[in-house]
Amino acid sequence: MAVPLFDSQTPLRPLRGRLLDAIATVVDAGTFILGPQLEAFEEEFAAHLRARHAIGVANGTEALTIALRALGAGPGDEVVVPSFSFYASAEAIPPTGATPVFCDVDPATFCVTADTVRAVLTPRTKAVIAVHLFGNVAPIADIEGLGVPVIEDAAQAAGSTAPGGRPGALGSSASLATFSFYPSKNLPAFGDAGAIATSDDALAERVRMLRFHGSHDKVTYEHVGYNSRLDEMQAAVLRILLPELEGWAGHRRQVAEWYAAEGLGELAALPVPTPGSRPAWHLYVVRHERPDELSAALAAVGIGSRGYYRRPIHRQPAMAHLGAGAGLPGTDEAARTHLALPIGAATTREQVAEVVAAVRDARLS
Ligand SMILES: *Cc1c(COP(=O)(O)O)cnc(C)c1O
Repeated sequence: MAVPLFDSQTPLRPLRGRLLDAIATVVDAGTFILGPQLEAFEEEFAAHLRARHAIGVANGTEALTIALRALGAGPGDEVVVPSFSFYASAEAIPPTGATPVFCDVDPATFCVTADTVRAVLTPRTKAVIAVHLFGNVAPIADIEGLGVPVIEDAAQAAGSTAPGGRPGALGSSASLATFSFYPSKNLPAFGDAGAIATSDDALAERVRMLRFHGSHDKVTYEHVGYNSRLDEMQAAVLRILLPELEGWAGHRRQVAEWYAAEGLGELAALPVPTPGSRPAWHLYVVRHERPDELSAALAAVGIGSRGYYRRPIHRQPAMAHLGAGAGLPGTDEAARTHLALPIGAATTREQVAEVVAAVRDARLS
């Protein structure tokens, strides 16, 4: 039986009627941008996060750029970002005029730590983008303890929790967090969509202004901003799916427990949640000395797997000129060894058992 790397269709099937009704509501209302669906979703998502504000934007990449602009990042500033992440975490920085500075990760958690961030701070550091990679939760309070503003990149961490709350609301009241609702993420839209969360009223107002062409009143244009809105159709879909997030996240945690119970830990290094966190694993990523051979062996029996970030961002052609100081050993280790195995809100115990049996049968450990 084939096991896909991810299956975003099956969890949506029971919601089909309600999703089509929600879309019909938008069609009948005839308002497609900045209307009542977005307003309601922003309130519901902020309540879910326990943040004062959530502001819908066009996607998770622009969410980061706009969050950086709201903090005042511009030419001459440096923004710290992990090299082991999706490319967009760093790509969002240069459009502000600021320069990405790459920091390392702990290969066991795949997340930045206060130590890896401290190692690259300079007087020009304007902000740190702390990525909650694969749904694991980066130590936001520790990083804020360094005295530098933090933006949580929570694109992969909807549904995760940590002792201080949910990703998206782990920072001080004057911080920002960003989300992506790209269709494969933990909380999916039916196209591109994103959001910015903050509990600071002034930052929230700056974000609202920046997403609408740099204007507070739509008459006077004070800044060069963006056309970056989460549209009514996507907001209506997200309002149907947000109440499902908790259950889907719980199932992802259950799948991770099944992988451990089936003995995967004897065959590969399992992902390690950061202290106290309960990750809603967006991707279930193990480490293995021969990940590409293992991936080929799994593919031969119909099981999906993938090394997402084999070439970390500081080695990508567009970013290599920026360098990485004394090197990023944790990043290189994670990049070389990681492999994502099937996980989703509909993954079954039988599928997990089959994946683990196939890893065992590959005899590569
Ligand atoms: C998906 C993702 C983004 C970008 O989100 P888009 O909505 O695709 O623009 C940014 N950071 C991380 C870590 C992501 O996984």
